[in-house]
Amino acid sequence: MALAGISVKYSGGFRLNLLLCATRKITGKSSMKIEDNKVVTLHYTLKNNDGTVIDQSEDGSFLYLHGAMNIIPGLEKALAGKAAGDEISVKVPPEEGYGEKDEGRIQEVPKEMFDGADQIDVGVQFHAQGPDGTAIVVTVVEIKDDVVVVDGNHALAGVDLNFEVKVVDVRDATEEEIGHGHVHGPDGHAH
Ligand SMILES: [Zn+2]
Repeated sequence: MALAGISVKYSGGFRLNLLLCATRKITGKSSMKIEDNKVVTLHYTLKNNDGTVIDQSEDGSFLYLHGAMNIIPGLEKALAGKAAGDEISVKVPPEEGYGEKDEGRIQEVPKEMFDGADQIDVGVQFHAQGPDGTAIVVTVVEIKDDVVVVDGNHALAGVDLNFEVKVVDVRDATEEEIGHGHVHGPDGHAH
């Protein structure tokens, strides 16, 4: 109450000082900057260009190891140098996100190849082997008379990713986390 009296009495200048102190207190929680080998906790909302929310994490459970390719390159780049309390909006184009859509990854597969599957519906995903032998996830996009059309592109390939991000925490990664290339701990990866 005394403070309120003073700020009125001494005009705007004093109030400005109080605000600056308060701001420093909030963001001063950790001034550690995001760089390689830091573990970062984020709140984020991801929208497509229509404004539809594609993904969201607001409970502090999203952690990643910076510099270890845990997240898409465009977002990682935008977060470098930021600190706890910082908020950013970033639009990540496909080439810095999940890549452009590759029509060659859309294929027609004979229906009998799915004989073992419980049900085939549009949207159902299957694990498959890519041309180079790596494991990929394919999504059923169309069902015809005797073939099933599957798409091996990532669901977000070709999509602009609009992120609203708040940096919640930045800490040093442990030697083990750096060695493994991912976050450990209660909210991270468990072995
Ligand atoms: Zn590990």
